[in-house]
Amino acid sequence: MAEQDNRPLAGFIDLHTHTTASDGTATPAEVVETAHGLGLDAIAITDHDCMDGVAEAVQTGLRLGQTVIPGCELAAHTPYGEMHIVGLWAEPGHKTLNNLLKEQQAMRELRFQEILAGLHRVGINLNKDEVAAETGGGNSVGRPHIARALLRKGYAHSVQDAFKRYLVPGKAGYAPRRLLSPDEVLTALKEAGVTTVFAHPMSLPAPEGWVRKEAERLHMLGLLDGIEAYHPEHDKAKVQYVEQLAADLGLLLSGGSDYHGTVKPKIRLGFGEGRLRVPVELLAKMKSYRENIGLPV
Ligand code: AMP
Ligand code: ZN
Ligand code: FE
Ligand code: FE
Repeated sequence: MAEQDNRPLAGFIDLHTHTTASDGTATPAEVVETAHGLGLDAIAITDHDCMDGVAEAVQTGLRLGQTVIPGCELAAHTPYGEMHIVGLWAEPGHKTLNNLLKEQQAMRELRFQEILAGLHRVGINLNKDEVAAETGGGNSVGRPHIARALLRKGYAHSVQDAFKRYLVPGKAGYAPRRLLSPDEVLTALKEAGVTTVFAHPMSLPAPEGWVRKEAERLHMLGLLDGIEAYHPEHDKAKVQYVEQLAADLGLLLSGGSDYHGTVKPKIRLGFGEGRLRVPVELLAKMKSYRENIGLPV
């Protein structure tokens, strides 16, 4: 008889996590070790615009016997702000994917310069090196890194406070990032054999029905495979809405904690804010969907 797994998250997965390769505070190895300790059946590493953490995560997974799905999270432009897309089974080094990530990172870098210039105008002299100290040399500079640098220099008393004072629209250190359309991002991902998921769709401040229409449009174009129902920003009603949407459109369901380590102290890997439980059955469905179209899992 197989030994029973008494770890708290045996039978569950987490398909949305961030590491120090982007704006998380735990290294890829640490995230995988934590997942293993909790008993998660699988995790995906989905750093913003970057897959530099994947090799370390996969290696750690092999050492521990922890399933790790290589992924990334990208943003696209909509009339209501950023649409986030989680890509699963992304192959690091794939040319189309590499080009997409490079382009996104270049646009991040441009925005980063604009943010520093904006802060400079209100007398805050933050330089690139001070922010680089927070990214650990990573290629995906994000506002959380800038927030941490501002905190370290005494311009804010918490990451949240730094955002509120400086880094949100209307404040001196805000600059928008140039983004591609969902169609452009998804086309590149599909070309690279990636399974595409509309991440935390209910966080978009879009009018009633827009998410459904957009998901349907992108799915009909063959660009969108799945949608994230289980996410800390989705309450019970939102989860149910997305579950129904997925059933109606024939989309895969996905979910994850959006773990970021200590920059989002309320979020725990696998548990989210406490109630999140993403069942492993969703992964089996994703895998057979991929196998049916001849993609590796
Ligand atoms: P970026 O991709 O550089 O625009 O940064 C987005 C990241 O900042 C995401 O991980 C968000 O969760 C985080 N973020 C956005 N707004 C806030 C906020 N008000 N307080 C803390 N973190 C935030
Ligand atoms: Zn993030
Ligand atoms: Fe996101
Ligand atoms: Fe995320």
